[in-house]
Amino acid sequence: MSIDPYAWIEPSLTTIHRADWYRFAQTISSLPGAVVQLEGKTVINFASNDYLGLASDRSVIAAAIAATEEFGTGSTGSRLLSGHRQLHRELEKAIASLKQTEDALVFSSGYLANLGAIASIVGKRDLILSDRYNHSSLKNGAILSGAKIIDYPHCNIIELQNHLKQQREKYRRCLIITDTVFSMDGDLCPLPEILDIAEKFHSMVLVDEAHATGVLGKKGAGCVEHFHSTHRPLIQIGTLSKALGSLGGYIAGSSTLIDFLRNRAPTWIYTTGLSPADTAAALEAIKIVQKKPELRTQLWHNIDTLKQLISQELPNLKLLPSESAILCLQLKDTATALTTAIKLKEAGIFAPAIRPPTVPTSRIRISLMATHQISHLEKLVTALKSS
Ligand code: PMP
Repeated sequence: MSIDPYAWIEPSLTTIHRADWYRFAQTISSLPGAVVQLEGKTVINFASNDYLGLASDRSVIAAAIAATEEFGTGSTGSRLLSGHRQLHRELEKAIASLKQTEDALVFSSGYLANLGAIASIVGKRDLILSDRYNHSSLKNGAILSGAKIIDYPHCNIIELQNHLKQQREKYRRCLIITDTVFSMDGDLCPLPEILDIAEKFHSMVLVDEAHATGVLGKKGAGCVEHFHSTHRPLIQIGTLSKALGSLGGYIAGSSTLIDFLRNRAPTWIYTTGLSPADTAAALEAIKIVQKKPELRTQLWHNIDTLKQLISQELPNLKLLPSESAILCLQLKDTATALTTAIKLKEAGIFAPAIRPPTVPTSRIRISLMATHQISHLEKLVTALKSS
């Protein structure tokens, strides 16, 4: 009798259902934006990372179309093996200019940028100190590297320092990895303190600016700019898929680091280069971030307005500390979070429930956009009141 080696999948899926972890994607049938068609229903969208509304910007779309017409749909292979387009280097120079670094390198996603960078920078003889709330791509990059990993409590500088005091000397290199804006909370890492400690313990720092790029900093360069830490030694990773409205990831840093990664990072060397459309869209979006600071001003106006509305109108709801476009309302348990999200959707609001094991406590996650109107924010608050 032959044994089916795939027979384990069905019971494993049943376990996911039983634990209430089963998830599915809903279909959007309109352009991205503050208002979208979700499963055939018009809803106000608080579930998108398109913070500046650039994913549907006419000039970003036009740049993607023009690049497709000129260079085709695909990059046809790894950049080292099959050649790249001038556009790729133009985008990398634009990122370096925004970030005020010597150079930058673009990857096919932010996830791949994190995996490739971390696994190239440290190895078996090294130590990684990782904030407990870090994004999955940082955590998996750390595992892939083979380094010893210590998770420190969220944003806890004292614990971080204690680990360094006790462990640093036992390892060759040390890398501290942290999100700058925490994606499921919206708070910021204490970057200046982390950089000071890293200097004291001759350690490297890698920050993930995924939710900060285009949102924080006077010029939209991110949290590093926000904390006036642009010229301090560190490795910056980010994505082209959130405020920049495209797809892809980047690493920005010294030219030696970038040259090293071009020759070492497997998730860059052995994968097809970013498509011409995504590359051109991101390049155009960076130009808009630099030319139109009013988009950022509008986003921050929306963030401040919603915070104020929540504190006035919903005093019993706990808003988690946030200094970004991500606002989270903590709810007492998973069931409450799930029913709240369903009721919000019935009221024409798209704001997802996030629950354990993704986060320690259940919540509704609200992402704000520059293109939200004040009336959208008021409708959200009204719907939350009656949910
Ligand atoms: N880092 C963080 C903090 C993120 O939130 C995400 C996306 N959710 C990523 C990295 C991965 O970026 P990408 O979507 O470009 O793969």
